[in-house]
Amino acid sequence: MNASDHPRSSSLITAKNVDLSNCDRELVQFPGAIQSHGAMLIVDEPEYIIRQASENCADFVGQPAELLLGKSIANVFGHSTPQMLDRLQRMSLENGPVHVVRESFAGSARGINIFAHRCGGVLILELELVATQPDAPTTRLYSDVREAVAELEKTRGLQSFLDLAVERIRTFTGYDRVMAYKFAEDGSGHVVAESKRAKLEPYLGLHYPATDIPAPARRMFGLSWLRHLPDVNYVPVRLYPEFHPATHKPVDMSFAILRSVSVMYSGYLKNMGVKSTMVMPLMKEGQLWGLISAMHHSGPMQVQYEARMAAEFLSHMLSLLMGAKEDADGFNERLRMTAVTDQLVERLSREPDLHDSLGIADKSPNLLSQIPATGAAVVARGKISTLGITPPKRELESLVAWLATQDQMIFATNRLPEIYSPAAAYKSVASGALAARISPQSADFLMWFRPEHIEIVKWAGDPKKPVKISETDGQVRLQPRTSFALWKESVTGRSEPWRKDEQEIAANLRQAISEVILNRAQQIERINRELQDANVELDSFAYVASHDLKEPLRGVHLLASFLKRALEGKLNEQGRQQLETILKLTRRMDDLIESLLQYSRTGRLELKIEPVDMDELVDEAITDCRHSAGNHDVEIRRPRSLGMEKCDRVRTREIFTNLITNAKKYNDKPRRWVEIGVVNTTPRRYYVRDNGIGISEDSRERIFEIFRRIHGKDEFGGGIGAGLTITRRAVERHAGRIWVESALGKGSTFYFTLAPEVTT
Ligand code: ADP
Repeated sequence: MNASDHPRSSSLITAKNVDLSNCDRELVQFPGAIQSHGAMLIVDEPEYIIRQASENCADFVGQPAELLLGKSIANVFGHSTPQMLDRLQRMSLENGPVHVVRESFAGSARGINIFAHRCGGVLILELELVATQPDAPTTRLYSDVREAVAELEKTRGLQSFLDLAVERIRTFTGYDRVMAYKFAEDGSGHVVAESKRAKLEPYLGLHYPATDIPAPARRMFGLSWLRHLPDVNYVPVRLYPEFHPATHKPVDMSFAILRSVSVMYSGYLKNMGVKSTMVMPLMKEGQLWGLISAMHHSGPMQVQYEARMAAEFLSHMLSLLMGAKEDADGFNERLRMTAVTDQLVERLSREPDLHDSLGIADKSPNLLSQIPATGAAVVARGKISTLGITPPKRELESLVAWLATQDQMIFATNRLPEIYSPAAAYKSVASGALAARISPQSADFLMWFRPEHIEIVKWAGDPKKPVKISETDGQVRLQPRTSFALWKESVTGRSEPWRKDEQEIAANLRQAISEVILNRAQQIERINRELQDANVELDSFAYVASHDLKEPLRGVHLLASFLKRALEGKLNEQGRQQLETILKLTRRMDDLIESLLQYSRTGRLELKIEPVDMDELVDEAITDCRHSAGNHDVEIRRPRSLGMEKCDRVRTREIFTNLITNAKKYNDKPRRWVEIGVVNTTPRRYYVRDNGIGISEDSRERIFEIFRRIHGKDEFGGGIGAGLTITRRAVERHAGRIWVESALGKGSTFYFTLAPEVTT
């Protein structure tokens, strides 16, 4: 039957889904068997009763497995039992196998090392034959290790550290080949250091696909400090019975020294021509960074317990020192990048615009000298500035729109075309992209780009065919690949990757920018609030003051009028004139107070925004200022209809009234005219134009200040100097703007808008 039309084919390994990661299905920690150079006893505590035993027990302890079951371990260890029990009770057995004692049994010429640990609720005793090679004295091992550690400490940089480490471990263990292997994020890896016998073919630089050391195997390597397989061709020895009689569960051998390895793994090693291995994990910050892998090609090789302990100790030291070595490599570069970041942030606090402070290539340092890249871009307020070599702006706009949907504050990839296909068009410029989003709410970014870096990857064998399928017996079976012939692959659409510290530097700059922006926003908000408070205070002061002043002023005025009438004909000319002056001054004072009141009203009263017919409104305003230019005839020009506008009717009428009054008033021409019109921009600009006296350039701002007049008190019919101030306030209440264009002696045009202008 064809495997693919099997009713449960989804759970089967088929030619279609086959992959070494199917090793997941092989429960590596429950093999039910051990390697043949030792024996295993599964013991229940606290009575120390043997529940399971490996089928080769007779060779080690002189009694077969089936005879041991249900008996106390005293039956095996005889007179050494009290000493053993004493140790088992005192030792910590939870963290993997510990050496308990070295025993000799009747019938066995060689000594046996006994190891114990607890796992899955049982005590696991492992008995391992002492290696045939003569023992190296333990003191020698100790001094060798100490010397190796001292030398390793002295190396500069990670590479020389690893080179020395593999060399020392090889001398130490006598293996043919020792390699340091580093994992990439995708689980693939490559050989970064190697020490080998001269005749052997080098593996240095070779890459291995992720499937070569599948996830469960990587997990197992991370669990123990050393895994030793003295003879790849061993015949597995089963436990008897297969399951624990009380729990009916297989034994969890995750930490066991003798655990039988996966057939995929031993097959793989056999195909590589390996006879014996020893593997130690390299850990960095709790993560599996890589492996030290020792291989023997010339024959089986059992490394004895003491040497293994020394190697294990060394791998601990390697893991501890390695992190420091790798960090030291990046330390100076990090210092440099941090210093540049500080300078950029300092510049930013002086020049808050992102484009001006970071988006200019001529300024040094800049984004490109901060993080090594060939191009960079600043995206802010809908505008893009670029530095160095970048994709075209139109492409950048689309990329930014896509990034905005990514929900990441720091985005880094060295294979942009793979995850964002339009980038294929500019991969030579930006196969790598690093982007820092300024704030989660905005689509503002800082970006860095790296060009395509075509890499030739040397694989050990074709990575696309990590396994073979054999269908010899009608069943699809996985077989590890047999060919490790050099396979070259050129990788395109990728750039040099962004290192972790480079990404952190980008994140630091992002953080600093958002703090600067936040500070500035808070500052502006505070100033606005203070300004608003001050305005409200001023308005209420003006209102109260003018209101309170009106009362006594009216009293003075009434009294003066009364005196004038009562003393009619009795006063001399000087007294009469003085009384007249008092009356004139009170009238002026009243005008001043009235305009103050009007000013404060314009600021305080709520606007009532509604659609207003502006032509009608101007009709009314013209009527309002009928008498404002004395007896002079003034031609009113209205070239086109003003249409409708949404505004406050009362305030807008005041605006027109004030402007038309002034236009008629400040005019010395024999034929005076005033033009009222609109320019159809967005928002619309209304204007009042005259052919009057004009306003000099240096007065054009001052005329809007309160009580400011720019000519003699009694010229042009006199005035208070508040009209334009009130007008400006009414315009600004509509969020509009008022300004004047003028030619001295020829005339002026006052423009205003009634809605905010949109800056583009
Ligand atoms: P007032 O008209 O009461 O003096 P305004 O605030 O309306 O006060 O105007 C301030 C000053 O601006 C005026 O005194 C005048 O000097 C000048 N001004 C205003 N409008 C015009 C205009 N259309 N042409 C020339 N000068 C003007």
